[in-house]
Amino acid sequence: MIHQNCNREGVWEKRYERCLICSFCNSRICHRKLSRTAENPNRWFYTCPHDKKFNKWEDEVKPHEWILVPYCGGCGAGLCRVKRFFSGSSPGRIMFLCRIKEGEGSCGYRVWQDELQAMEAREAEEKKKREAEAVEAMINNQNQFNVLREHIASTKDRLFQIEAEVSCCEVEMRLLKLQLEKLSKNKEVLEGKHLIASNELEQSQKLLEEKEAEQNAAFDRARALLEDRIVPAYV
Ligand SMILES: [Zn+2]
Ligand SMILES: [Zn+2]
Repeated sequence: MIHQNCNREGVWEKRYERCLICSFCNSRICHRKLSRTAENPNRWFYTCPHDKKFNKWEDEVKPHEWILVPYCGGCGAGLCRVKRFFSGSSPGRIMFLCRIKEGEGSCGYRVWQDELQAMEAREAEEKKKREAEAVEAMINNQNQFNVLREHIASTKDRLFQIEAEVSCCEVEMRLLKLQLEKLSKNKEVLEGKHLIASNELEQSQKLLEEKEAEQNAAFDRARALLEDRIVPAYV
């Protein structure tokens, strides 16, 4: 979390302070003070705690002059000390150190400003990547969820269709059953009728046979009678 002012409240939550380095001694963080003079009422300004000189009005500090000073990354001692190097391969290079001096309990934390910035940039890049991945994963999940929902909807439709078909089948089956019952009743009636008719036929045949037998017998008797009468006449 980078705070854009030097308000010192709640420093334990902060990682950086926007500071102004003294342009005279080049190694101290200026103190922020409020002017209450008649010429400059309620105007913030910076002074060096070391040489006590007025440094700049806050509203006159150019953007590139601000330095983000980190809180000690090794202990809880607070805002780091600043050291600007004027010799070496890159003059003007700034180092941040544990605010407690070496030999007085310093945690030994020290980091170059440019290396810290590069590290922050890397972290920000990784964070951005992780966020993008999380968003992608979320979108994928959402897509999978949508596919699943569509699948469920179509399965439900199919189920309703099958249910409708089943109930249709049930109706047809009930109708068929009724027809079958009717047919079997008809069959019983027809079988009864058939039985009666065949009995009648049998009786009629018997009667016919009896009649034929009677007729034959009568015929025989008549012939015998005739033969008896005729034969003696020719004898
Ligand atoms: Zn100074
Ligand atoms: Zn420290």
